[in-house]
Amino acid sequence: MRKIILKGGRLIDPATRTDDYIDLLLANERVAKWGEGTPVDEDTLVIDVRGAVVSPGLVDMHVHLREPGREDEETIESGALAAAHGGITAVAAMPNTEPTIDTPAWVEYVRSRGTAIAVYPIAAITVGRGGKTLTEMAALAEAGAVAFSDDGSPVESATVMRRALEYASMVGRPIISHCEDLNLTGSGVMNEGFASTMAGLRPIPAAAEEVAVARDIILARTTGANLHIAHVSTRGSVELVRRAKEEGIAVTCETCPHYFTLTDDDVRTYATSTRVNPPLRSAADVSAIKVGLADGTIDAIASDHAPHSIEEKEVEFDAAPPGLIGTETLLPLTLTHLVESGTITLGRAVELMSTDPASILGIPHGSLAEGSRADVTVFDPDWAWEVSEDWFLSKSKNSPFIGRTLRGRAVLTISRGEIVFEEPGAAHRAGETHEEGEHHAAELSVHA
Ligand SMILES: [Zn+2]
Repeated sequence: MRKIILKGGRLIDPATRTDDYIDLLLANERVAKWGEGTPVDEDTLVIDVRGAVVSPGLVDMHVHLREPGREDEETIESGALAAAHGGITAVAAMPNTEPTIDTPAWVEYVRSRGTAIAVYPIAAITVGRGGKTLTEMAALAEAGAVAFSDDGSPVESATVMRRALEYASMVGRPIISHCEDLNLTGSGVMNEGFASTMAGLRPIPAAAEEVAVARDIILARTTGANLHIAHVSTRGSVELVRRAKEEGIAVTCETCPHYFTLTDDDVRTYATSTRVNPPLRSAADVSAIKVGLADGTIDAIASDHAPHSIEEKEVEFDAAPPGLIGTETLLPLTLTHLVESGTITLGRAVELMSTDPASILGIPHGSLAEGSRADVTVFDPDWAWEVSEDWFLSKSKNSPFIGRTLRGRAVLTISRGEIVFEEPGAAHRAGETHEEGEHHAAELSVHA
């Protein structure tokens, strides 16, 4: 297999505490030792990545790939390609498909698709996500499930959740909890507040999320199990997790780009691409999420990529299914709204999108240490560009970010030593968007 040298980039790898201009050698699907005298033979592909950042491949721990069941919206293959387009080299796929991923055979099915990037199955907590009978967690873990979740719906019974935490703990996997009290949600469709009153849409209080977060934290304390809270969206949830961590409870959590970039004010356009669960929150919640990302309360940024067909979303706001696509805009939104604004450093961003989600799931990603799997993301942090519908590789187009100008995006994605996405014409952009001299942009000049 061909060797690849990424030359001249800024290498950021929190796992090895590296932030320096270091060339990276990939050989035999691994990060190889590179130094003076490393032979550059004709089998070596040298890529000039001056001006770009080289990081461990991004890990998106929360995606919905819709296969089996809704292959019109996304397939495991199309979802993997879209993720690679966004600079992601590993995803964890939620089990709320049709049928539910709740048997070893279905776990095996997801795992064996042979995709461009690594796809890790998450298995259901309860059979059919019905909330009643626990799945065979040992057999599912054995088959390759990296975590358990009934995402899309909460586990309503505290007793079932307690048992789930106990069993998951025994098989060494985290429970990923979709925290929502359905009684408090009622028939609500957007965040409760001034915006819902103005929009005349039925409200969902922040408490619908927070009482469930509090319950599951208490159960995590009781059981000592690893609890991961999905898509944290409110100030109260951030505070609960912060306190739990101070107490030493084994809880981690993620948020999604839409919870630090959009507010419930954006819902007043009635654009169905802004209908999501949990709903877009207030400006105060957005600020608290940002603080949580910066201070380590929040461990990961995941997309909650939720493709929906145009027919399903082209209806009245109340009737539209919740969810938006997100793998391709995960990195650009993080760079634009957190790094560019000075909320977090580039290193912290890489931690949140790669190192930490990999460690929560216990998967061999998120590091560029010698001998690591050759999964690499090269991104241009300075490239200003406008999101357009036809830019997305996902089969679905339900993004509220179409038409927005963002700064930074992936230009090269390498999975297991193979290039799985390469920005076409990246070399041409060098002259257009960057000054001459030290900053050469993500100029992907390739020398065979
Ligand atoms: Zn969810």
